[in-house]
Amino acid sequence: MWSEKINVGVKENRRLKDALDLIFTNKAKGETLEDRRFEIHISDLVKECPREAWISKKYPEDIELQRKSVLKMWGGKKLHEIELSREHEVELRYRFAKEPYGVIVGTVDEIINDIVIDKKFYAKLPRVPYKQHVKQVSYYMALLWRHGKKVRMGAIYYINRSSFATRVFTFTMSQEDLEKAFEEMVERASYLRQAIIHNWVPPKTNNEVECSRCAFKDICKSIDTKKNLANANREKDEYEIGI
Ligand code: SF4
Repeated sequence: MWSEKINVGVKENRRLKDALDLIFTNKAKGETLEDRRFEIHISDLVKECPREAWISKKYPEDIELQRKSVLKMWGGKKLHEIELSREHEVELRYRFAKEPYGVIVGTVDEIINDIVIDKKFYAKLPRVPYKQHVKQVSYYMALLWRHGKKVRMGAIYYINRSSFATRVFTFTMSQEDLEKAFEEMVERASYLRQAIIHNWVPPKTNNEVECSRCAFKDICKSIDTKKNLANANREKDEYEIGI
């Protein structure tokens, strides 16, 4: 017999929800956040705004991530763990200067033959790839090429994190493209290293979209209001602050 003998009263429990949210967020935070303040990652070099990466190295204690951001990052990390190839999560390192901050590091999600793939998890699939994602893959390719690996095509594999719909964008790189990408990446890394070591605040971007999405906008604003910005070096559009 398929009987029905229980009938408990069920109600929403906000207190338990808050307690579980806290445990979940803290656990996710512990599994997700890496201390990247002493290294230059390829992802530090791909955005239009160099100040973002600079803030992440100089003010790590002041960066407060919202619960939603932590969980998004955690979800992305879990999905990244799924292996799509035999060359999964390939670690890259390139020393371009002495310490501190003398090494560029990065992790390539997947390599299938000569195709270099980066996975991105988004709430909405983009119609065209983000410029910074194309740059990120081109830097991976340049570094792999520098290490003697044959690379031909870069791919960005976007996955919608609720519907799991997907979209892939690809591009190819010539020998000249690889050389230029490598040169640009090292130039940017050297610039960021100098700015960190010498306490120069890099200039802001004019890209309002990038600013609106930036996790560091409050810190960025507070830097601008520091009175010693009066010492701005206008020629270089950089300035020193006492930290
Ligand atoms: S708020 Fe804008 S200018 Fe400031 S760090 Fe972020 S992206 Fe750069």
